[in-house]
Amino acid sequence: MANDNLARKINEDVYSRLDAAIEATVKIDADRNDQEGRFPRENLKTLAEAGWTGVLNEPRFGGLGLGHVDFAEAAYRIGQADASTGLVYVMHVGAAQTINLFGNDDQKERWLKASSGALLGTYSTSERATGGHWWYNLSEAARDGENYVLNAEKSFTTSSGQADFYVVQTRTPGAKDQTDIIFFIVDGKSEGIESKPWNALGVRANHSGPIRYNNVKVQKRDRLGAEGQGKEIIYDGVSPVYLIGLGSVWEGVARGVLNAAVAHTKSFVHKDRNKSLSDYQAVRQELGAAKVLVETLRPWRLELAAKLDELWRAGKPQSEILIALTEFKVHAAEVANKVASAALTVTGGYGYHRGPIERSFRDARAAIAMGPSNVIARDWIGKSLVGLPLELFYEGGE
Ligand SMILES: Cc1cc2nc3c(=O)[nH]c(=O)nc-3n(C[C@H](O)[C@H](O)[C@H](O)COP(=O)(O)OP(=O)(O)OC[C@H]3O[C@@H](n4cnc5c(N)ncnc54)[C@H](O)[C@@H]3O)c2cc1C
Repeated sequence: MANDNLARKINEDVYSRLDAAIEATVKIDADRNDQEGRFPRENLKTLAEAGWTGVLNEPRFGGLGLGHVDFAEAAYRIGQADASTGLVYVMHVGAAQTINLFGNDDQKERWLKASSGALLGTYSTSERATGGHWWYNLSEAARDGENYVLNAEKSFTTSSGQADFYVVQTRTPGAKDQTDIIFFIVDGKSEGIESKPWNALGVRANHSGPIRYNNVKVQKRDRLGAEGQGKEIIYDGVSPVYLIGLGSVWEGVARGVLNAAVAHTKSFVHKDRNKSLSDYQAVRQELGAAKVLVETLRPWRLELAAKLDELWRAGKPQSEILIALTEFKVHAAEVANKVASAALTVTGGYGYHRGPIERSFRDARAAIAMGPSNVIARDWIGKSLVGLPLELFYEGGE
């Protein structure tokens, strides 16, 4: 009992540190960062000081040692305040978790524990050559003695030009086929990294622009897992944590924009009738329908995240629930878009002005495109429904 109470107290402290970090930076800077396309570095610094960038890392490497339920809750709370910071956070925790699962102690020491856990990581997988088929790379590493040389043109990488390390996916030198994939941890300060500016409709602060790796030298000690282990890393390292995190951010965006719409409709009064917008039944219908959509996400998130924790602790592959995670991502993306649209409807010209409501509307569009895009994802879900293989790596591919 005493131990339970202590655990609850520690958990409460950890969550109050998270909320304080969100209040102190993420919330305050969201509109400015969006308008100026300013990377939310200080938000990540505050989250790191609160311990939350190391949410899944082991305590011996400076982490909180928590699970996916907590990670997803953090992504949801951050997303509620700012989608850009939410995505930077998810890519970072995802990159760190890939190291947790497939890295060695030396890598955890240098990339996760170093600088008191303040190093920022991200995923760099998608390539211009293969677009939304982000698991399928045409780039191929070369050998440099026992080390490697990386040449790749990546089309989108969140935190590009800002990250301290990139978890990069490419083909193994002399790859025997398309599934012969290798992962590296690439130091963000390496010579030959060239990142291009990010100017987009939404999530304008998260620097998700193109990045090139031109003859970037990578030491053997920064190879993640074994040569050829990349396909397993895609399924069991990158995808599960990314999908639960991504869906949680969009759930946060949906909840945040609904709250903003409710606040406005309650406070704005038509003086001719002395009625607030929320006094109109038509407005309440819109809000009610949006609320029902938002409420579908929380129990699903908790169930999937708990299952991820169970599989992780049991040492089983988390890709067991890949399709369910994909369904959650698709639904969260659609809910965020529908709820942001309803919020714009009920807030009229007020919502249309630059600010949190129109920002959420623009941000939510990224949810549809981000891999697997909702179009591709629905095809995966349909294939699994009728018993067909996903065929991510197909015959005839280069
Ligand atoms: C904000 C943002 C952040 C991102 N962050 C990262 C990151 O950190 N790391 C990273 O590696 N990548 C990242 N990406 C890339 C993302 O995951 C996708 O790979 C990318 O958006 C695909 O875009 P594309 O235009 O190249 O796709 P395209 O392949 O050109 O897709 C165009 C359209 O065709 C459809 N389509 C494509 N293939 C098929 C198919 N087989 N069947 C049916 N329809 C299909 C798509 O759904 C889409 O509607 C990010 C993207 C965005 C927008």
